[in-house]
Amino acid sequence: MSTTAVRANCTVTVRLQIEFVNVAAVPLPVLAPIVKIWSDAIDQMWNDTWGGRSGHVRWRCCSVVFEVDARIGAGTPGYHQIRIHLSGDLPGGTTRSSTGIGLLGQTGDWEVTENHVVAAHEAGHLLALDDEYVLDGSGSALDEHAVPPYRATDPRCIMANTGTTDVTQWPEHIDAAMSALDMHCPWQCCVLQPRGAVLTLLRMFKRAPSPVAPQRRRAPGPPPDAAAAFQQVQGGRPNARAIVANHVSRHADYDTDEVVPELSSPVAARRWLAAIALGRDSSPEARSALVGALGDESPSVRMAAAHALLGQGDDRGYPVLLDLLDGAYTIMRHPPTLARDYANRVLERYSGHHVGFDPFASAPERAAGVAAWRAWYDAR
Ligand SMILES: [Zn+2]
Repeated sequence: MSTTAVRANCTVTVRLQIEFVNVAAVPLPVLAPIVKIWSDAIDQMWNDTWGGRSGHVRWRCCSVVFEVDARIGAGTPGYHQIRIHLSGDLPGGTTRSSTGIGLLGQTGDWEVTENHVVAAHEAGHLLALDDEYVLDGSGSALDEHAVPPYRATDPRCIMANTGTTDVTQWPEHIDAAMSALDMHCPWQCCVLQPRGAVLTLLRMFKRAPSPVAPQRRRAPGPPPDAAAAFQQVQGGRPNARAIVANHVSRHADYDTDEVVPELSSPVAARRWLAAIALGRDSSPEARSALVGALGDESPSVRMAAAHALLGQGDDRGYPVLLDLLDGAYTIMRHPPTLARDYANRVLERYSGHHVGFDPFASAPERAAGVAAWRAWYDAR
């Protein structure tokens, strides 16, 4: 095993053993400090000290501490093997550093020039976490969470963004890693922890509504004009796209004539932004364009259109969400758990109804949740 975990009472210690294989023959005095920076970043990200905060993470009623054991070498048993390449020299002509997803003996190929954010992200893959971004037609990454009601001014999800230092891990990541590591937090730990124990127990049975901690808020500037906004989502970095989309969803007042044609763009990110923008447009033209977008080939666009219609009090968004609720869409390079989670949250928000759907549950349990949502929809 290369990523392992042990639990002693109410503390889980996760050990990440990573060996950096110097295939590029980078001089050791250069490579060693880089490996130190990466190792520290992995430690800080997953122990939640990125901004100088606690030093462990809470998981249910337990604490989780991440230990990073990084070394330079090759083939040491029990260590993930990350091959180091010079910039622009990744194998197969790819342009992105990559890491296998899993706990057992993964391999990866990283450019030596990668910064600390990329290292923290790639290490997430060694905790069995998948990417949470979508690659659009042009090959650039689109943060899958950059859809309202997520706030652009919150720190971005580390598994969805490496283009900004304003990133964090989410409770869902810790849940998923603990599940992959087969850890559980015994109920006694909740009893031993009087403060907040009731809330934590409740959370164990009812998933918390939002993974995004409202931490830093910045006053938003005016939104870009329509042409600039569409250009930014098409070509921008993931974080820039998220900011544009959130701006547009809250403040933009674009001409219907400028936005509707974007729903025919060959670029999915532009259609996605168009659906978000039309959510603020109460004209009949906008409404019918949104109804048309419910049939878009991209699940992200369908989701945005359904959300926009429900936001306008138009119930025609519900069937799309019911479909996305338990879909197996591969729009993201990870299991479609997040699409299901998002669909469920939008359903709850606009229906005021809860069926206890758990996007993380097993397929039969999810099917029961979907059936409950469908029953609710049919009975309306
Ligand atoms: Zn990744």
